[in-house]
Amino acid sequence: MKQEFPVPTLSRDERGLRLEGVALADIAAAHGTPTYVYSLAALSAAFEAYRDALAGRPALVCYAVKANSNLGVLSAFARLGAGFDIVSGGELARVLAAGGNAARVVFSGVGKSEAEMRQALDAGIRCFNVESAAELDRLSAVAQQMGKVAPIALRVNPDVDPKTHPYISTGLRSNKFGVAFDEALTLYRRAAALPGLRVAGIGCHIGSQLLDGAPVVEAAEKVLGLVDRLAAEGIVLEHIDLGGGLGIRYRDENPPAVAEYLAPLLSLLEGRREELLLEPGRSLVGNAGLLLTRIEYLKPGVEKNFAVVDAAMNDLARPALYDAWHDVVEVAPRAAASRPYEIVGPICESGDFLAHDRELAVEPGDLLALLSAGAYGMAMSSNYNTRPRAAELIVDGERVHLARAREAVEQLYAGERPLD
Ligand SMILES: *Cc1c(COP(=O)(O)O)cnc(C)c1O
Repeated sequence: MKQEFPVPTLSRDERGLRLEGVALADIAAAHGTPTYVYSLAALSAAFEAYRDALAGRPALVCYAVKANSNLGVLSAFARLGAGFDIVSGGELARVLAAGGNAARVVFSGVGKSEAEMRQALDAGIRCFNVESAAELDRLSAVAQQMGKVAPIALRVNPDVDPKTHPYISTGLRSNKFGVAFDEALTLYRRAAALPGLRVAGIGCHIGSQLLDGAPVVEAAEKVLGLVDRLAAEGIVLEHIDLGGGLGIRYRDENPPAVAEYLAPLLSLLEGRREELLLEPGRSLVGNAGLLLTRIEYLKPGVEKNFAVVDAAMNDLARPALYDAWHDVVEVAPRAAASRPYEIVGPICESGDFLAHDRELAVEPGDLLALLSAGAYGMAMSSNYNTRPRAAELIVDGERVHLARAREAVEQLYAGERPLD
């Protein structure tokens, strides 16, 4: 029986789990655990699905760096011709260090500092996604001081109805992101009049892990209405950025395929000249990665059995933070009877769990893989409990590229000083 995994390049043979051509047991032996492992073929295929669906119309897929900002991952997307959506000067530095093209970078976020604006203007990024009137004024002033003109898009908040689409988290009037739809016209007039700015486009990003394309279509319809009103006033936009947000399968979710998700948007845009920008994060990397961990101890209990593993909430925060579900698979299943386990880490917090109530046939020392961990995994990791962060590897066929060495403890306090 062939097992179906949400990670498309994962398979099982007599040596256990294999990502592309590499056995996870070999990876653990050579690099230790916990370790994030990403599949180059899986992330390339995810990007190509966007590129193929958009073929024939002006479009740019800007990978949302915050989902996974490892230089190896960024360089893979740069080679594929991706643009990048960044939310900090630090992410811009990473994109450039990975060989990304600044002319394909859009800069999102509500709190851009003057230093970040200067850094991005120096690099020559494609566009600033501006989220407030105050940011317009600051950006214009900074650009003027530098003798430059900053290309901008306003991130509008389309206030898509949460009753019909309850999973939307960022496109509502009540949250901190974007400018209210009713104010957008006034703000565009102001931007057009500011000497340090050039109005280039419009953007929105309505939420994450969307399992239905309908709210994005609804948002796009509103955005297009605004684009047409602006054109009537002589403010002509070059691009429309519809953000990221397409969901992935973690367990039994059924998100639309990329082509299916984009089809209604593409028909809405048919015959229009504006370039379409997208900012997918999770859907490009989420199912291209897994977290490999080893069982330290089994603690059978009266009410619950615990499997204490060497990964913890500092490595993968999503279960503790959002009660997120990641599939947990034995790397080499045993013939022994299975029982339900709580998968927990060594951190001194009751909230330090990776999974609840999973039926596993395991013994101490066995390896487990936490699937669908390519997005918002390592990117949200920390050094809580002075735990060095995991290694990161990229598998390419039979080859393994060390994308980030495991941290050493001394690195963690290298910048600290005891009192004299
Ligand atoms: C987080 C974010 C994205 C990516 O979202 P995903 O759900 O990972 O696709 C894109 N654009 C902006 C502005 C974001 O904040």
